[in-house]
Amino acid sequence: MVERIEAPHLRKGSDLMLRQQTCIRCNKTYESDDPDRVFCGRACVTAESRSFEVTADELYRLVWSMPTTHVAAEFGVSDVAIAKRCKRLDVKKPPRGYWSRLRAETKRRRQERRKGAT
Ligand SMILES: [Zn+2]
Repeated sequence: MVERIEAPHLRKGSDLMLRQQTCIRCNKTYESDDPDRVFCGRACVTAESRSFEVTADELYRLVWSMPTTHVAAEFGVSDVAIAKRCKRLDVKKPPRGYWSRLRAETKRRRQERRKGAT
């Protein structure tokens, strides 16, 4: 629970009383006249509620450009949330082990190139 500070509330009506508040999610300080507000912005609100906005195209591009855990970090949600959203938007995700295989493949190719150079 966030403790209320009553003072700004009492002055409601005339001029807006901005108050320094700290985001409960990212600890960023922000100014707001709303004592009930607990997040610095929309990004933290959506992240915390685990409902983030992303289009199918954008999601597809993201999951095929980096591992799901990284995509999840981008949105500040869990990778399960990403997986669920992929399912809902009918976005095909890379198969399990795709990224480790890709890493191994890149490494192998680099080694072969080095071998070929000598
Ligand atoms: Zn925040």
